Amino acid sequence: MVVFVTPVAKPAAGLDSPLQYLKGVGPQRAHLLERLGLLTVRDALNHFPRDYQDRRSFVPFHKLALGESAVVQGTVFGVSAPARRGSRAPTKAVFRDQTGYFTALWFGKPYLAQQLKREQRVVLYGKKGLDKDRHLVLDNPDYEIVEDDELASIHMGRVVPVYPLTEGVFPRWLRGFLYQVVSAHAEEVSDILPEALRRRRSLLPASQAYRTVHFPERLEDVDAARQRFAFEDFLVLQVGLALKRRRQARDRGRPLAPPGTLVARLRGALPFTLTPAQERVWSEIRSDLARPVPMNRLLQGDVGSGKTIVAVMALLTAVEAGCQAVLMAPTEILAEQHVRTVRGLVEPLGLTVAWLSAGQRAKERQAALDALRTGAASIGVGTHALIEDAVELQRLGLAVVDEQHRFGVMQRASLRGKGEHPHVLVMTATPIPRTLALTLYGDLDVSVLDQLPPGRTPILTKVRYEPTRERIYEFVRDELKAGRQAYVVCPLVEETEASDLKAATEMAERLQAGPFKAFRVGLVHGRLSFNAKDQVMQAFKAGELDLLVATTVIEVGIDVPNASVMLIEHAERFGLAQLHQLRGRVGRGAAKSYCILLASGPTSDEGKKRLDAMAATQDGFRLSEVDLQIRGPGEFFGTRQSGLPEFRTAGLVTHARLLEEARQDAAELVARDPGLRLPEHRPLREALVARWRERLELASVG
Ligand code: ADP
Ligand code: MG
Repeated sequence: MVVFVTPVAKPAAGLDSPLQYLKGVGPQRAHLLERLGLLTVRDALNHFPRDYQDRRSFVPFHKLALGESAVVQGTVFGVSAPARRGSRAPTKAVFRDQTGYFTALWFGKPYLAQQLKREQRVVLYGKKGLDKDRHLVLDNPDYEIVEDDELASIHMGRVVPVYPLTEGVFPRWLRGFLYQVVSAHAEEVSDILPEALRRRRSLLPASQAYRTVHFPERLEDVDAARQRFAFEDFLVLQVGLALKRRRQARDRGRPLAPPGTLVARLRGALPFTLTPAQERVWSEIRSDLARPVPMNRLLQGDVGSGKTIVAVMALLTAVEAGCQAVLMAPTEILAEQHVRTVRGLVEPLGLTVAWLSAGQRAKERQAALDALRTGAASIGVGTHALIEDAVELQRLGLAVVDEQHRFGVMQRASLRGKGEHPHVLVMTATPIPRTLALTLYGDLDVSVLDQLPPGRTPILTKVRYEPTRERIYEFVRDELKAGRQAYVVCPLVEETEASDLKAATEMAERLQAGPFKAFRVGLVHGRLSFNAKDQVMQAFKAGELDLLVATTVIEVGIDVPNASVMLIEHAERFGLAQLHQLRGRVGRGAAKSYCILLASGPTSDEGKKRLDAMAATQDGFRLSEVDLQIRGPGEFFGTRQSGLPEFRTAGLVTHARLLEEARQDAAELVARDPGLRLPEHRPLREALVARWRERLELASVG
């Protein structure tokens, strides 16, 4: 009898083993793979194709219509390089396929003349076009030389994956390599999705999904595999968030449930009554505050929907309950605006507001710090300077954070560290598409202000180009003559604040000297001190200025109902969110308002899409969906700060339903097994620890 002894046990590292030691890799190729972000077998498995080519059958070149793209196959008949080096003429190759001969041409690839050899089989992917003599050719196709080796079946006669590449890594090699990795290791993956859940949602098992996403038998199978991965990513995220939420629910917060005298006095002093939406949101917040569990709520509301007043009511509630409360903004300008508003509302009630700013003189700053430390000030307003270590607070009961999406998760965490689990209200003026809100803030409760205060008139938005500038000025003059006011926002100059300033100053001088000689032109920009800015804005508000030239500082800082025109110079350079914010400065009074987007420079397709979207709708929520589609989720938030997780199959918008399902499943799963102790939850637990430990501060897991 022969006994086989396994000589070496399979390395325990398995999926975590470095690629360098795999067959055919070695240090040099490992280095190249590293450039693709691939260090381990697991990374390689997760390097998904960006596309597929159907190579089961090829279209004969002659059957292709002009302008049509397809994968064709041919045998090299002859190659000719441009006669001279540096010539602009193309490299041409003549191929033979089932039905005849055809020519392919490439510009700027003279080396092809050496690479392509007679009788070689080549797969080409490209578009049928015309050369300069109007002959039909395959225009600049992707190509891959077919070698008659044992791996041919990986590259031919099937649907083949097309991978993201980097310099020095060739498609054929990478495909062969990943074929090897997938065949050897796909089965080792332990499925993160518990079997029962996976079946209920009709999702593919992990190993099958890996095989299919890389080497599908049919193109139609790919979708199912991708869905499975999207679901898995969502589930891991949502379980993480559910656990975090659970942990927060155990935190003991201070119930803030005073009689409400301060809020009642504030209401009595307001020149308006709250909208039904504001009332609804306020009652949600008030009942959160009254509970012994820290509130963790996101308040979404379009520009001008009246979030501030709701926030101030929450601040007053905390103060009346004997706590301090802070309001934080992401920029100095926003913080300044809030100080003004909050002081205007609460000082008449006898409260003191401390203001912390980076630009403050040392003495002022010390005074503010002292006021907060001793409790002389019950409310603090500032940027994230407010959560710096030097700031000592008395019984922090509530923190309101404006424009959350620019705050990182870590900052939120350090804020929590300031008090014993203060209530947190997060506000965002850029309405976030629901899919993203779920992803980013799955751990928050959400309130929505979906109604603007009454008396707002719709704003007419027009996209205009340079030749109509004089006509635009004439229109603005007519508005000013009718007693209304206008803003001119200066182009965003990318480089520095100094160049923004210069552009604005020149613009103001030019307008005052020329087209608006008969009117009073003011100027406001970010370099002005708080007081100087305040003076200009107050003058504009008081009607002592007709036209206000501004850099984007007015984006958030000003509220003048009599202003009816917003003219934005070089509008093509601004992002959608910013344009929307700027437009929100008009349409605040009874007069019909206008937003003129003047595009003067070369405008990219994206730029055009943004301007068209602005003209098409005034709904900030709709605009943010468009923005998300144009830019993708990463850039939408500026990936780095946002803590937005990366998804292998992306598609937050297209996979909205899956995200919702994952959220439900995560909630159930965590409710049933909060410690993820059940054996079927082990892989999930490991994945969670590996992927989200830092991001979600999952101290209770792992
Ligand atoms: P945002 O949600 O963009 O922060 P604000 O809180 O700045 O909006 O409110 C915009 C303007 O609307 C402010 O001038 C504010 O005083 C006013 N406002 C808020 N609520 C109401 C209301 N219920 N009725 C009328 N005006 C309101
Ligand atoms: Mg606001």
